[in-house]
Amino acid sequence: MQPKIIFLGTGGARIVVAKQFRATGGIIIQYDNDQLHIDPGPGSLVRARQFDINLEKNTVILVSHNHLDHCNDMNAVIDVMTKGGIIKRGVLIGNKTVLKGLKDEYPYLTNHHAKCLQKVIVAEAGKRIKLNEINIIPTKAKHDDPNTVGFRIITPKFTLGYTSDTEYFRGMDKEYKGCDIMIINNLRAFGKKYKGHLSSTETVKLLQKVKPKLAIIQHFGMTMLKANPVYEAREIQKQTKVQTIAATDGIHIDPISYSAKSGQKTLSAY
Ligand SMILES: [Zn+2]
Repeated sequence: MQPKIIFLGTGGARIVVAKQFRATGGIIIQYDNDQLHIDPGPGSLVRARQFDINLEKNTVILVSHNHLDHCNDMNAVIDVMTKGGIIKRGVLIGNKTVLKGLKDEYPYLTNHHAKCLQKVIVAEAGKRIKLNEINIIPTKAKHDDPNTVGFRIITPKFTLGYTSDTEYFRGMDKEYKGCDIMIINNLRAFGKKYKGHLSSTETVKLLQKVKPKLAIIQHFGMTMLKANPVYEAREIQKQTKVQTIAATDGIHIDPISYSAKSGQKTLSAY
């Protein structure tokens, strides 16, 4: 299978999630026989159907933190990929909060769904996880959930960085050293700095240091949608000289050639 990155959503933050101005079903990465599903937020199952992705083919789920727009549909996706637990399969890599809880927060993962999986792995920054030909290294993040991680996903053909939700911090670029492609949760527009998140201003700082071949911005909040992510991507590209795409719901990106095409399908097709 040709490697592919498919966005089942590009929205983030309260209003965009609540109104579904952008979808929030996470990101799919297909590589050989593996299908990775990153941060399955609300609507994952609906968006998978809308964009023609079979979640039964998921082999790995990666969940970066316990905010609704990242983990809400995790149990539902596990249910789909294990046929309600009939087939024990798949790996869940989740941050500590999602899997174990935090102070007065219960874990998001139910005991039933944990038992449906072949393996549940706690993602800790810097601790390498090897799955078939793919290596996954959780990366540091600075966000409300103190256990938040991003991911560096290393395949024999490309290396992909996913920042998850984080604010910019000193040394952040080192977490993504050698990444060909960066997926950046660029919640806000230029000059709209916000605690715990990245705006286009910090995305520029990060890209100037990491220098990937391709940057994909996504996880847009209201200020970003109002500013227009396409204009923001254009300005980021101008300032960094890094090819930058503003992701759209359902977009397919070829991680080898960096070409993108719309994967939009209407539900009426079914
Ligand atoms: Zn968050």
